[in-house]
Amino acid sequence: MKALLLTGPSGSGKTTLAQLLVEKYEGLAFSISATTRPPRPGEVHGRDYYFLSEVEFDMELAQGGFVEWERLFSGYRYGTLRRELERIQSLGKWALFVKDVRGALSLKRELADRLTTVFLVPPSIEALRERLLARAPHTPEDLAERLARAEEELRMVSQFDYVLYNDDLKRALERLERLLHRLV
Ligand code: ADP
Ligand code: 5GP
Repeated sequence: MKALLLTGPSGSGKTTLAQLLVEKYEGLAFSISATTRPPRPGEVHGRDYYFLSEVEFDMELAQGGFVEWERLFSGYRYGTLRRELERIQSLGKWALFVKDVRGALSLKRELADRLTTVFLVPPSIEALRERLLARAPHTPEDLAERLARAEEELRMVSQFDYVLYNDDLKRALERLERLLHRLV
C-alpha cells in the first residue's frame, strides 16, 4: 500500500486539506482514525472518526488492534486501527493519513518508503489559536495544551519528508496537489 500522511499541530489544516484531496482524487482513501474524544457537531462516526468508548478502545488495544496510538488532548486517545489499513489496502487505493507528529513517526517506521510525510506549518501561533477557536469551542486548558504542543511539534519539522506552509488554503492545496502529482 502507498500512502500520504499529513501531520503538524492541531489546527494547522490537516483535516481540511485531506478532505479537499479525497473529494478530488478517487484514488485516495481517507484513513479513519479511532478516538475516545466525543464527536464535534457535524462529525459522523465511520466518516470522520470511529468514535469509541474508553472500554471499546481498551478492548482493541488488548487485541493488538492498533498499529499506533497516542494519548493527546484532554487525555483522549487516538489511534490507527490495523483493520482500517486492511480496508484501504483491499480497495487498492492510496491511504491518506492525518496524524499527530508522534503517530506520524510511528507510521513511518511501519510503512517506510511506502509512506510520504508532509508537515503543515501555520502562519503563526496566533493564527493557529484563531483557527482552533473558529473551528470549535475549546476549554481554556485544552486550547493551552494544543498551543503548547504546537510549539514543541514545530521543532520536529525536519523529521518529515516535506514541509507545507498553510497560509492561504487555496495555495496550500495547489502545492499539495503538485507534490501528489510528483509522487504517483
Ligand atoms: P487540523 O486537522 O490540523 O487540526 P483543521 O483542518 O481542522 O486542522 O483546521 C482548523 C481550522 O482552521 C478549521 O476551522 C479550518 O477551516 C481552518 N483552516 C484551515 N486552513 C486554513 C487556512 N489556510 N486559512 C484559514 N483557515 C484555515
Ligand atoms: P482532533 O481532536 O483535533 O480531531 O485531533 C487531535 C489530534 O489528533 C490531531 O493532531 C490529529 O492529527 C491527531 N490524530 C488523529 N487521528 C490520529 C491517530 O490515529 N493517531 C494519532 N497518533 N494521532 C491522530
